Amino acid sequence: MSEINQVGMEKIVSLCRRRGFIFPSSEIYGGLSSCWDYGPLGVEIKRNVKEAWWRAMVQNRDDVVGLDTSILMHPNVWKASGHIDGFSDPLVDCKNCKLRWRADELKITVCPTCGGELTEPRQFNLMFKTFMGPVEDAANIVYLRPETAQGIFVNFQNVVNTTRKKLPFGIAQTGKSFRNEITTGNFIFRSREFEQMELEFFVIPGTDIKWHEYWRNERMNWYLKLGIKPENLHFREHAKDELAHYAKGCYDIEFLFPMGWAELEGIANRCDFDLTQHSKFSGKSLEYQDSESKEHIIPYVIEPSAGVDRSVLAFLCNAYYEEPDKEEIRVVLRLHPSLAPFKVTVLPLSRKENLVKLAKDIHTGLRECWMTGYDDSQSVGRRYRRQDEIGTPYCVTIDFDSLEDNQVTIRERDSMKQVRIPIRELQKTIGAKLAGESFEVLPPGGRCL
Ligand code: ATP
Repeated sequence: MSEINQVGMEKIVSLCRRRGFIFPSSEIYGGLSSCWDYGPLGVEIKRNVKEAWWRAMVQNRDDVVGLDTSILMHPNVWKASGHIDGFSDPLVDCKNCKLRWRADELKITVCPTCGGELTEPRQFNLMFKTFMGPVEDAANIVYLRPETAQGIFVNFQNVVNTTRKKLPFGIAQTGKSFRNEITTGNFIFRSREFEQMELEFFVIPGTDIKWHEYWRNERMNWYLKLGIKPENLHFREHAKDELAHYAKGCYDIEFLFPMGWAELEGIANRCDFDLTQHSKFSGKSLEYQDSESKEHIIPYVIEPSAGVDRSVLAFLCNAYYEEPDKEEIRVVLRLHPSLAPFKVTVLPLSRKENLVKLAKDIHTGLRECWMTGYDDSQSVGRRYRRQDEIGTPYCVTIDFDSLEDNQVTIRERDSMKQVRIPIRELQKTIGAKLAGESFEVLPPGGRCL
Protein backbone atom coordinates (compact mmCIF):
# COMPACT_ATOMS: atom_id res chain seq x y z
CA MET A 1 0.00 0.00 0.00
CA SER A 2 2.50 2.61 -1.16
CA GLU A 3 0.90 5.20 -3.45
CA ILE A 4 -2.02 7.15 -2.08
CA ASN A 5 -4.97 8.15 -4.24
CA GLN A 6 -5.64 11.90 -4.38
CA VAL A 7 -9.03 11.72 -2.67
CA GLY A 8 -9.05 11.14 1.08
CA MET A 9 -11.49 8.58 2.44
CA GLU A 10 -12.91 11.20 4.82
CA LYS A 11 -14.14 13.22 1.83
CA ILE A 12 -16.03 10.22 0.45
CA VAL A 13 -17.47 9.30 3.85
CA SER A 14 -18.58 12.86 4.40
CA LEU A 15 -20.20 13.18 0.95
CA CYS A 16 -21.97 9.85 1.42
CA ARG A 17 -23.29 10.93 4.81
CA ARG A 18 -24.25 14.46 3.75
CA ARG A 19 -26.08 13.52 0.58
CA GLY A 20 -27.73 10.30 1.69
CA PHE A 21 -25.63 7.65 -0.01
CA ILE A 22 -24.54 5.67 3.06
CA PHE A 23 -25.31 5.92 6.80
CA PRO A 24 -23.90 3.98 9.77
CA SER A 25 -26.28 1.14 10.65
CA SER A 26 -28.57 1.70 13.67
CA GLU A 27 -27.16 5.20 14.01
CA ILE A 28 -29.70 6.46 16.56
CA TYR A 29 -28.43 3.71 18.90
CA GLY A 30 -24.82 4.71 18.43
CA GLY A 31 -24.25 2.59 15.31
CA LEU A 32 -23.23 -1.05 14.92
CA SER A 33 -19.58 -1.60 14.20
CA SER A 34 -18.81 -2.08 10.49
CA CYS A 35 -22.43 -2.34 9.35
CA TRP A 36 -23.80 0.24 6.92
CA ASP A 37 -27.16 1.33 5.52
CA TYR A 38 -27.52 2.55 1.95
CA GLY A 39 -29.64 5.72 1.78
CA PRO A 40 -31.88 6.99 -1.04
CA LEU A 41 -28.97 7.73 -3.39
CA GLY A 42 -26.79 4.83 -2.23
CA VAL A 43 -29.47 2.27 -2.97
CA GLU A 44 -29.66 3.56 -6.55
CA ILE A 45 -25.92 3.37 -7.26
CA LYS A 46 -25.74 -0.05 -5.65
CA ARG A 47 -28.67 -1.29 -7.73
CA ASN A 48 -27.03 0.17 -10.84
CA VAL A 49 -23.73 -1.62 -10.12
CA LYS A 50 -25.52 -4.95 -9.70
CA GLU A 51 -27.60 -4.37 -12.83
CA ALA A 52 -24.51 -3.46 -14.86
CA TRP A 53 -22.87 -6.68 -13.68
CA TRP A 54 -25.98 -8.76 -14.44
CA ARG A 55 -26.30 -7.21 -17.91
CA ALA A 56 -22.67 -8.02 -18.71
CA MET A 57 -22.55 -11.46 -17.09
CA VAL A 58 -26.03 -12.90 -17.75
CA GLN A 59 -28.30 -10.79 -19.95
CA ASN A 60 -25.84 -10.26 -22.80
CA ARG A 61 -24.46 -13.80 -22.88
CA ASP A 62 -25.73 -17.14 -24.16
CA ASP A 63 -23.52 -19.18 -21.85
CA VAL A 64 -24.48 -17.90 -18.38
CA VAL A 65 -27.68 -18.30 -16.37
CA GLY A 66 -28.62 -16.77 -13.00
CA LEU A 67 -29.63 -18.09 -9.59
CA ASP A 68 -30.79 -16.68 -6.27
CA THR A 69 -30.12 -19.22 -3.52
CA SER A 70 -30.87 -19.02 0.18
CA ILE A 71 -28.50 -17.53 2.74
CA LEU A 72 -29.05 -20.39 5.20
CA MET A 73 -27.85 -23.73 3.87
CA HIS A 74 -27.43 -27.28 5.16
CA PRO A 75 -24.48 -27.27 7.60
CA ASN A 76 -22.79 -30.07 5.65
CA VAL A 77 -22.34 -27.64 2.76
CA TRP A 78 -19.78 -25.84 4.89
CA LYS A 79 -18.08 -29.07 5.93
CA ALA A 80 -17.70 -30.05 2.28
CA SER A 81 -16.52 -26.61 1.19
CA GLY A 82 -13.85 -26.53 3.91
CA HIS A 83 -15.29 -23.48 5.65
CA ILE A 84 -15.94 -25.17 9.00
CA ASP A 85 -12.37 -26.42 9.30
CA GLY A 86 -10.46 -23.83 7.36
CA PHE A 87 -12.26 -20.51 7.01
CA SER A 88 -10.39 -18.75 9.76
CA ASP A 89 -7.92 -15.96 10.29
CA PRO A 90 -5.12 -15.89 12.92
CA LEU A 91 -6.19 -13.61 15.75
CA VAL A 92 -3.87 -11.90 18.26
CA ASP A 93 -4.83 -9.73 21.27
CA CYS A 94 -2.81 -6.91 22.75
CA LYS A 95 -2.18 -7.79 26.40
CA ASN A 96 -2.02 -4.11 27.25
CA CYS A 97 -4.80 -2.23 25.37
CA LYS A 98 -6.86 -5.34 24.50
CA LEU A 99 -7.22 -4.44 20.83
CA ARG A 100 -7.43 -7.37 18.40
CA TRP A 101 -5.49 -7.81 15.18
CA ARG A 102 -5.14 -10.21 12.29
CA ALA A 103 -1.67 -11.68 12.77
CA ASP A 104 -1.18 -12.18 9.01
CA GLU A 105 -1.81 -8.47 8.34
CA LEU A 106 0.60 -7.18 11.00
CA LYS A 107 4.08 -6.40 9.81
CA ILE A 108 5.35 -5.93 13.38
CA THR A 109 5.26 -8.15 16.46
CA VAL A 110 4.03 -5.55 18.95
CA CYS A 111 0.63 -3.78 19.08
CA PRO A 112 0.49 -1.06 16.37
CA THR A 113 -1.62 1.15 18.67
CA CYS A 114 0.19 1.06 22.02
CA GLY A 115 3.31 -1.04 21.43
CA GLY A 116 2.07 -3.65 23.93
CA GLU A 117 2.90 -7.34 23.87
CA LEU A 118 0.70 -9.57 21.70
CA THR A 119 -0.72 -13.01 22.56
CA GLU A 120 0.13 -16.08 20.48
CA PRO A 121 -2.09 -16.28 17.38
CA ARG A 122 -5.19 -18.48 17.57
CA GLN A 123 -7.46 -19.42 14.69
CA PHE A 124 -10.77 -17.60 14.62
CA ASN A 125 -13.55 -18.93 12.35
CA LEU A 126 -15.18 -16.14 10.37
CA MET A 127 -18.60 -17.72 9.93
CA PHE A 128 -21.60 -16.35 11.84
CA LYS A 129 -23.47 -19.10 13.65
CA THR A 130 -27.13 -19.19 14.57
CA PHE A 131 -29.77 -21.81 15.38
CA MET A 132 -32.54 -23.16 13.19
CA GLY A 133 -35.81 -23.58 15.10
CA PRO A 134 -36.51 -23.01 18.80
CA VAL A 135 -33.86 -25.30 20.35
CA GLU A 136 -30.41 -23.80 20.73
CA ASP A 137 -28.26 -26.93 20.65
CA ALA A 138 -25.42 -28.21 18.50
CA ALA A 139 -27.75 -30.22 16.27
CA ASN A 140 -29.52 -27.04 15.17
CA ILE A 141 -26.53 -24.88 14.30
CA VAL A 142 -26.69 -23.20 10.92
CA TYR A 143 -24.41 -20.59 9.41
CA LEU A 144 -24.98 -17.34 7.56
CA ARG A 145 -23.25 -17.97 4.24
CA PRO A 146 -19.76 -16.42 4.00
CA GLU A 147 -19.93 -16.46 0.18
CA THR A 148 -22.66 -16.93 -2.42
CA ALA A 149 -20.65 -19.47 -4.45
CA GLN A 150 -21.69 -22.61 -2.55
CA GLY A 151 -25.36 -22.03 -3.43
CA ILE A 152 -24.26 -22.31 -7.06
CA PHE A 153 -22.23 -25.51 -6.66
CA VAL A 154 -24.97 -27.39 -4.82
CA ASN A 155 -27.42 -26.48 -7.60
CA PHE A 156 -25.08 -27.50 -10.43
CA GLN A 157 -27.08 -30.63 -11.32
CA ASN A 158 -30.44 -28.81 -11.05
CA VAL A 159 -29.25 -26.22 -13.53
CA VAL A 160 -27.78 -28.77 -15.94
CA ASN A 161 -31.00 -30.83 -15.85
CA THR A 162 -33.38 -27.91 -16.26
CA THR A 163 -31.50 -25.74 -18.77
CA ARG A 164 -29.63 -28.43 -20.76
CA LYS A 165 -26.61 -26.10 -20.81
CA LYS A 166 -23.49 -27.58 -22.39
CA LEU A 167 -19.95 -26.95 -21.20
CA PRO A 168 -18.55 -24.37 -21.08
CA PHE A 169 -21.26 -22.46 -19.23
CA GLY A 170 -21.61 -20.37 -16.12
CA ILE A 171 -23.99 -19.74 -13.24
CA ALA A 172 -24.15 -16.26 -11.74
CA GLN A 173 -25.51 -14.97 -8.47
CA THR A 174 -25.55 -11.75 -6.49
CA GLY A 175 -26.46 -11.56 -2.82
CA LYS A 176 -25.57 -10.95 0.80
CA SER A 177 -22.68 -12.69 2.52
CA PHE A 178 -21.53 -12.48 6.13
CA ARG A 179 -18.08 -12.74 7.68
CA ASN A 180 -17.22 -12.09 11.28
CA GLU A 181 -14.09 -10.18 10.28
CA ILE A 182 -11.50 -9.55 13.01
CA THR A 183 -10.51 -6.15 11.73
CA THR A 184 -12.96 -4.10 9.73
CA GLY A 185 -12.76 -0.56 8.54
CA ASN A 186 -12.04 1.71 5.63
CA PHE A 187 -15.74 2.51 5.42
CA ILE A 188 -17.61 -0.06 3.27
CA PHE A 189 -14.38 -1.71 2.07
CA ARG A 190 -14.48 -4.40 4.75
CA SER A 191 -17.67 -4.98 6.66
CA ARG A 192 -19.29 -7.95 8.34
CA GLU A 193 -22.36 -7.98 6.12
CA PHE A 194 -21.76 -7.28 2.44
CA GLU A 195 -22.91 -8.21 -1.03
CA GLN A 196 -21.10 -10.28 -3.61
CA MET A 197 -21.45 -10.78 -7.36
CA GLU A 198 -20.10 -14.21 -8.23
CA LEU A 199 -19.85 -16.27 -11.37
CA GLU A 200 -18.91 -19.95 -11.40
CA PHE A 201 -17.90 -20.78 -14.96
CA PHE A 202 -17.71 -24.54 -15.63
CA VAL A 203 -15.28 -25.73 -18.29
CA ILE A 204 -13.79 -28.93 -19.69
CA PRO A 205 -10.55 -29.74 -17.80
CA GLY A 206 -7.62 -28.75 -19.95
CA THR A 207 -9.37 -25.62 -21.23
CA ASP A 208 -9.27 -24.00 -17.80
CA ILE A 209 -6.11 -21.95 -18.31
CA LYS A 210 -7.52 -20.36 -21.45
CA TRP A 211 -10.83 -19.55 -19.74
CA HIS A 212 -9.05 -18.17 -16.70
CA GLU A 213 -7.27 -15.71 -18.94
CA TYR A 214 -10.51 -14.91 -20.78
CA TRP A 215 -12.33 -14.00 -17.54
CA ARG A 216 -9.44 -11.91 -16.25
CA ASN A 217 -9.73 -9.76 -19.36
CA GLU A 218 -13.53 -9.61 -19.31
CA ARG A 219 -13.62 -8.51 -15.72
CA MET A 220 -10.89 -5.91 -16.09
CA ASN A 221 -12.71 -4.48 -19.12
CA TRP A 222 -15.96 -4.28 -17.18
CA TYR A 223 -14.44 -1.83 -14.69
CA LEU A 224 -12.74 0.14 -17.47
CA LYS A 225 -15.95 0.42 -19.51
CA LEU A 226 -17.72 1.79 -16.46
CA GLY A 227 -15.18 4.56 -16.23
CA ILE A 228 -12.52 3.40 -13.76
CA LYS A 229 -9.27 5.04 -14.80
CA PRO A 230 -6.71 2.47 -16.04
CA GLU A 231 -4.03 3.88 -13.74
CA ASN A 232 -6.27 3.03 -10.75
CA LEU A 233 -6.50 -0.68 -11.63
CA HIS A 234 -4.05 -3.55 -11.83
CA PHE A 235 -3.82 -7.32 -11.51
CA ARG A 236 -2.00 -8.96 -8.64
CA GLU A 237 -1.16 -12.61 -9.08
CA HIS A 238 -1.31 -14.67 -5.90
CA ALA A 239 1.99 -16.13 -4.80
CA LYS A 240 2.14 -19.95 -4.49
CA ASP A 241 1.98 -19.82 -0.67
CA GLU A 242 -1.14 -17.60 -0.77
CA LEU A 243 -3.15 -19.95 -2.98
CA ALA A 244 -5.81 -22.23 -1.55
CA HIS A 245 -4.44 -25.82 -1.75
CA TYR A 246 -6.91 -26.75 -4.49
CA ALA A 247 -6.49 -23.63 -6.65
CA LYS A 248 -4.31 -23.63 -9.72
CA GLY A 249 -4.03 -19.87 -9.90
CA CYS A 250 -5.66 -16.69 -8.66
CA TYR A 251 -5.45 -13.07 -9.73
CA ASP A 252 -6.91 -10.16 -7.82
CA ILE A 253 -8.06 -7.04 -9.59
CA GLU A 254 -6.86 -4.31 -7.27
CA PHE A 255 -8.00 -0.68 -7.17
CA LEU A 256 -6.04 2.25 -5.84
CA PHE A 257 -8.31 3.13 -2.89
CA PRO A 258 -7.50 6.17 -0.72
CA MET A 259 -5.67 3.83 1.70
CA GLY A 260 -3.66 2.21 -1.11
CA TRP A 261 -3.97 -0.72 -3.54
CA ALA A 262 -6.48 -3.31 -2.34
CA GLU A 263 -8.59 -6.18 -3.69
CA LEU A 264 -11.74 -5.38 -5.63
CA GLU A 265 -12.31 -8.83 -7.11
CA GLY A 266 -10.62 -12.23 -7.11
CA ILE A 267 -10.52 -14.45 -10.22
CA ALA A 268 -9.56 -18.00 -9.33
CA ASN A 269 -9.10 -21.30 -11.12
CA ARG A 270 -10.68 -23.63 -8.54
CA CYS A 271 -10.17 -26.81 -10.61
CA ASP A 272 -12.75 -29.52 -9.72
CA PHE A 273 -12.47 -29.03 -5.95
CA ASP A 274 -15.98 -27.80 -5.17
CA LEU A 275 -18.02 -30.26 -7.23
CA THR A 276 -15.81 -33.16 -6.07
CA GLN A 277 -16.24 -32.24 -2.41
CA HIS A 278 -20.02 -31.82 -2.66
CA SER A 279 -20.28 -35.07 -4.49
CA LYS A 280 -18.31 -36.80 -1.74
CA PHE A 281 -20.24 -35.26 1.15
CA SER A 282 -23.73 -35.51 -0.36
CA GLY A 283 -23.29 -38.90 -2.01
CA LYS A 284 -24.82 -37.46 -5.20
CA SER A 285 -23.06 -37.55 -8.52
CA LEU A 286 -22.14 -34.11 -9.77
CA GLU A 287 -20.59 -35.40 -12.93
CA TYR A 288 -21.37 -33.98 -16.32
CA GLN A 289 -21.92 -36.25 -19.29
CA ASP A 290 -20.57 -34.90 -22.54
CA SER A 291 -23.34 -35.35 -25.15
CA GLU A 292 -20.91 -36.27 -27.94
CA SER A 293 -18.16 -38.34 -26.33
CA LYS A 294 -20.57 -39.66 -23.61
CA GLU A 295 -17.66 -39.27 -21.22
CA HIS A 296 -18.40 -38.42 -17.56
CA ILE A 297 -16.30 -35.61 -16.19
CA ILE A 298 -16.20 -33.26 -13.26
CA PRO A 299 -15.87 -29.80 -14.79
CA TYR A 300 -13.23 -27.32 -13.71
CA VAL A 301 -14.39 -23.95 -12.41
CA ILE A 302 -13.22 -20.42 -13.08
CA GLU A 303 -14.58 -18.04 -10.47
CA PRO A 304 -14.66 -14.26 -10.85
CA SER A 305 -15.85 -13.10 -7.42
CA ALA A 306 -16.51 -9.39 -6.89
CA GLY A 307 -17.80 -7.30 -4.00
CA VAL A 308 -20.74 -4.95 -4.61
CA ASP A 309 -19.81 -2.61 -1.77
CA ARG A 310 -16.14 -2.47 -2.73
CA SER A 311 -17.17 -1.72 -6.30
CA VAL A 312 -19.48 1.09 -5.14
CA LEU A 313 -16.61 2.53 -3.08
CA ALA A 314 -14.20 2.27 -6.01
CA PHE A 315 -16.66 3.94 -8.40
CA LEU A 316 -17.22 6.77 -5.90
CA CYS A 317 -13.49 7.33 -5.22
CA ASN A 318 -12.68 7.18 -8.93
CA ALA A 319 -15.41 9.71 -9.81
CA TYR A 320 -14.75 12.28 -7.08
CA TYR A 321 -13.31 15.61 -8.25
CA GLU A 322 -12.90 19.01 -6.63
CA GLU A 323 -12.50 21.84 -9.14
CA PRO A 324 -12.07 25.58 -8.69
CA ASP A 325 -15.11 27.36 -10.12
CA LYS A 326 -15.75 31.10 -9.69
CA GLU A 327 -13.77 31.38 -6.43
CA GLU A 328 -15.51 28.34 -5.03
CA ILE A 329 -14.80 24.64 -5.13
CA ARG A 330 -17.11 22.57 -7.32
CA VAL A 331 -17.43 18.99 -6.06
CA VAL A 332 -18.41 16.74 -8.93
CA LEU A 333 -18.93 13.00 -9.15
CA ARG A 334 -18.06 12.07 -12.72
CA LEU A 335 -19.91 8.75 -12.49
CA HIS A 336 -20.61 6.74 -15.62
CA PRO A 337 -24.23 7.61 -16.58
CA SER A 338 -25.38 4.03 -16.11
CA LEU A 339 -24.23 4.15 -12.47
CA ALA A 340 -25.46 7.64 -11.55
CA PRO A 341 -28.40 7.58 -9.07
CA PHE A 342 -30.35 10.07 -11.21
CA LYS A 343 -29.77 10.26 -14.95
CA VAL A 344 -31.47 13.64 -15.17
CA THR A 345 -32.99 16.22 -12.81
CA VAL A 346 -35.70 18.74 -13.65
CA LEU A 347 -35.21 22.28 -12.34
CA PRO A 348 -38.03 24.85 -12.71
CA LEU A 349 -36.59 28.35 -12.45
CA SER A 350 -39.41 29.50 -10.18
CA ARG A 351 -42.29 28.06 -8.20
CA LYS A 352 -44.88 30.01 -10.20
CA GLU A 353 -47.87 27.82 -10.92
CA ASN A 354 -47.70 27.69 -14.71
CA LEU A 355 -43.95 26.94 -14.67
CA VAL A 356 -44.37 24.22 -12.05
CA LYS A 357 -47.10 22.56 -14.12
CA LEU A 358 -44.85 22.39 -17.18
CA ALA A 359 -41.89 21.17 -15.07
CA LYS A 360 -44.02 18.44 -13.44
CA ASP A 361 -45.31 17.30 -16.83
CA ILE A 362 -41.74 17.03 -18.12
CA HIS A 363 -40.68 15.21 -14.94
CA THR A 364 -43.52 12.72 -15.33
CA GLY A 365 -42.50 12.03 -18.93
CA LEU A 366 -38.81 11.53 -18.18
CA ARG A 367 -39.24 9.30 -15.13
CA GLU A 368 -41.03 6.73 -17.30
CA CYS A 369 -37.61 6.14 -18.82
CA TRP A 370 -35.03 6.99 -16.14
CA MET A 371 -34.60 7.76 -12.45
CA THR A 372 -35.31 11.47 -12.62
CA GLY A 373 -34.82 14.03 -9.86
CA TYR A 374 -36.80 17.21 -9.25
CA ASP A 375 -35.42 20.20 -7.38
CA ASP A 376 -37.09 23.59 -7.02
CA SER A 377 -35.34 25.07 -3.96
CA GLN A 378 -32.72 27.84 -3.91
CA SER A 379 -30.88 29.43 -6.84
CA VAL A 380 -30.36 27.43 -10.00
CA GLY A 381 -26.57 27.70 -9.52
CA ARG A 382 -26.85 26.03 -6.12
CA ARG A 383 -29.07 23.35 -7.61
CA TYR A 384 -26.55 22.59 -10.37
CA ARG A 385 -23.91 22.19 -7.65
CA ARG A 386 -26.08 19.79 -5.71
CA GLN A 387 -26.63 17.68 -8.81
CA ASP A 388 -22.91 17.75 -9.70
CA GLU A 389 -22.10 16.48 -6.22
CA ILE A 390 -24.36 13.43 -6.61
CA GLY A 391 -23.23 12.73 -10.16
CA THR A 392 -26.39 13.58 -12.16
CA PRO A 393 -25.20 13.74 -15.79
CA TYR A 394 -27.91 16.13 -17.06
CA CYS A 395 -30.13 18.89 -15.68
CA VAL A 396 -33.15 20.21 -17.53
CA THR A 397 -33.98 23.83 -16.67
CA ILE A 398 -37.43 25.21 -17.35
CA ASP A 399 -37.71 29.02 -17.50
CA PHE A 400 -40.40 31.52 -18.41
CA ASP A 401 -39.38 31.48 -22.07
CA SER A 402 -40.15 27.74 -22.07
CA LEU A 403 -43.84 28.64 -21.72
CA GLU A 404 -43.62 30.70 -24.90
CA ASP A 405 -41.17 28.83 -27.14
CA ASN A 406 -41.62 25.25 -25.85
CA GLN A 407 -37.89 24.90 -25.37
CA VAL A 408 -35.80 23.96 -22.32
CA THR A 409 -32.11 24.08 -21.43
CA ILE A 410 -30.06 20.93 -20.94
CA ARG A 411 -26.93 21.41 -18.86
CA GLU A 412 -24.15 18.81 -18.86
CA ARG A 413 -22.47 17.85 -15.60
CA ASP A 414 -18.94 17.37 -16.93
CA SER A 415 -18.52 20.23 -19.40
CA MET A 416 -21.16 22.49 -17.76
CA LYS A 417 -22.20 23.28 -21.35
CA GLN A 418 -25.79 24.27 -21.95
CA VAL A 419 -27.94 23.76 -25.03
CA ARG A 420 -31.50 24.78 -25.66
CA ILE A 421 -33.76 22.27 -27.34
CA PRO A 422 -37.48 21.80 -28.09
CA ILE A 423 -39.37 19.97 -25.33
CA ARG A 424 -40.56 17.34 -27.82
CA GLU A 425 -36.89 16.44 -28.52
CA LEU A 426 -36.01 16.12 -24.82
CA GLN A 427 -36.39 12.40 -24.24
CA LYS A 428 -34.69 11.50 -27.49
CA THR A 429 -31.81 13.91 -26.85
CA ILE A 430 -31.19 12.70 -23.30
CA GLY A 431 -31.42 9.10 -24.50
CA ALA A 432 -28.79 9.79 -27.13
CA LYS A 433 -26.56 11.63 -24.66
CA LEU A 434 -26.78 8.84 -22.10
CA ALA A 435 -25.87 6.38 -24.82
CA GLY A 436 -22.74 8.44 -25.45
CA GLU A 437 -23.78 10.21 -28.63
CA SER A 438 -23.42 13.89 -29.39
CA PHE A 439 -26.34 16.31 -29.40
CA GLU A 440 -26.28 16.40 -33.20
CA VAL A 441 -26.83 12.68 -33.86
CA LEU A 442 -30.23 11.73 -32.57
CA PRO A 443 -31.61 8.19 -32.88
CA PRO A 444 -35.34 7.81 -33.51
CA GLY A 445 -37.05 7.61 -30.10
CA GLY A 446 -35.54 7.65 -26.60
CA ARG A 447 -33.37 4.95 -25.15
CA CYS A 448 -33.56 3.63 -21.64
CA LEU A 449 -30.42 2.75 -19.71
P1 ATP B 1 -9.88 -10.01 1.69
O1 ATP B 1 -8.52 -10.62 1.37
O2 ATP B 1 -9.94 -8.53 1.42
O3 ATP B 1 -10.41 -10.41 3.03
P2 ATP B 1 -10.98 -12.21 0.30
O4 ATP B 1 -9.85 -12.59 -0.60
O5 ATP B 1 -11.24 -12.98 1.55
O6 ATP B 1 -10.91 -10.65 0.66
P3 ATP B 1 -12.96 -13.33 -1.38
O7 ATP B 1 -13.27 -14.45 -0.47
O8 ATP B 1 -12.16 -13.58 -2.61
O9 ATP B 1 -12.32 -12.14 -0.55
O10 ATP B 1 -14.34 -12.61 -1.75
C1 ATP B 1 -14.60 -12.08 -3.02
C2 ATP B 1 -14.91 -10.60 -2.96
O11 ATP B 1 -15.91 -10.33 -1.97
C3 ATP B 1 -13.74 -9.73 -2.57
O12 ATP B 1 -12.91 -9.44 -3.68
C4 ATP B 1 -14.42 -8.49 -2.05
O13 ATP B 1 -14.78 -7.62 -3.11
C5 ATP B 1 -15.68 -9.04 -1.41
N1 ATP B 1 -15.49 -9.13 0.05
C6 ATP B 1 -14.92 -10.16 0.73
N2 ATP B 1 -14.93 -9.90 2.06
C7 ATP B 1 -15.52 -8.69 2.21
C8 ATP B 1 -15.86 -7.88 3.34
N3 ATP B 1 -15.59 -8.28 4.59
N4 ATP B 1 -16.46 -6.69 3.13
C9 ATP B 1 -16.76 -6.28 1.87
N5 ATP B 1 -16.49 -7.00 0.78
C10 ATP B 1 -15.88 -8.19 0.92
